[in-house]
Amino acid sequence: MSLGAFVRSVEEWLLVSRRLMLCLTVCLLSLGPWLQAQGVDESGDGSEKGDLSDISKEVLRGRIVCLAESMHEIYDTHLPTNHEHLYGFRTTNGEFYTILRTKLSEAIFVDQRVRDRELVLSVRVIPKSRVIDVITMKSVKDGVVHDLHYYCFICAIRTVDPAICLCCQEAVEFMEVPLE
Ligand SMILES: [Zn+2]
Ligand SMILES: [Zn+2]
Repeated sequence: MSLGAFVRSVEEWLLVSRRLMLCLTVCLLSLGPWLQAQGVDESGDGSEKGDLSDISKEVLRGRIVCLAESMHEIYDTHLPTNHEHLYGFRTTNGEFYTILRTKLSEAIFVDQRVRDRELVLSVRVIPKSRVIDVITMKSVKDGVVHDLHYYCFICAIRTVDPAICLCCQEAVEFMEVPLE
């Protein structure tokens, strides 16, 4: 091979490899958004992180039900004799949701008075699930929407927490205040 031919073949090879690199870069760049759209984690550590503040709020109206009992009634699923209630939400149009137990939804799980009411919940439905993250809770009494919260008359503090007042450690009162 002459020197000229050798230089030409090296130049050709460089050109081809440069094109390959360009093609590969374009492929990777276009794959990024696709991977994100597929919800595939790119960090490689196996963790999947999401931001609920990006999810728009929804208002759901309905009642608290025991999902184990409801599913048993509708679909005849197995209901153990002494089951632990699995509280969920059934909307007025018959949709079922699982309620995430948080500071804001705690009252549903511990206060029978809340479970007896028709409720209007402001929620975020967690992506890829039927799990709701409760933001606010209102009740419906005699057709009127009421603000639902707890109140410590000693400290004059309102709270969503049905447990004792964090300030004075006394019991808090269940409050239902009609909203105009
Ligand atoms: Zn039950
Ligand atoms: Zn108090």
